[in-house]
Amino acid sequence: MIESKDFTYFLTVFESGEMGLEIGETRLYYNIDGGQLKVLSEFRAGEYYKRHYPDAMSVHTMNLRDSTATIKNILGDFIIEYITSSLVRNYPHFVGSALFTHDEYNNLYNISLELVRKQQEKAKLNTTELTELCSRYRLNPVPVDDDGNSWKANCPSGGHHWIMIAADSWGCGYCKKKGGVEELVNWLEQVKQKHI
Ligand SMILES: [Zn+2]
Repeated sequence: MIESKDFTYFLTVFESGEMGLEIGETRLYYNIDGGQLKVLSEFRAGEYYKRHYPDAMSVHTMNLRDSTATIKNILGDFIIEYITSSLVRNYPHFVGSALFTHDEYNNLYNISLELVRKQQEKAKLNTTELTELCSRYRLNPVPVDDDGNSWKANCPSGGHHWIMIAADSWGCGYCKKKGGVEELVNWLEQVKQKHI
């Protein structure tokens, strides 16, 4: 059982959902032991979102590279990693901190946004026949990982969900369809015929 009393509190952020809604707060605590940083995150959904988002607790572990770094530098690096890894879902904004000022947090936040933007630019160059096909059919393909090996695109069915694309295969769990280039072309043409 993880106990927050073994950790020191340092930051509270609010997590926003897809529409920029404030779905709840995450309190972060740290513990440094034996060259390892452990950060405990405690999420609590706001009143209106309790039904959709259960409270959650998790621990992130990071190995410390520089033994002379200050707590603030170590946690600053962690915040950048935390924001860059969660940006696909939400944007954690500053609520309060025992260590960082609002400006300091925003500075780390902006560094993170810039890192994510650069990663996305790089990932976007890693196109495949399948992603090109999705572009031609205006399905808005976008990379979902740092290196562009996995992508998502609007589902050809016209439903409000995604198909997932790997190197030479794709699939839609919702429509229960999958395949390679040929299967996607066939499906896209079928959908097109229906709309003519
Ligand atoms: Zn689908």
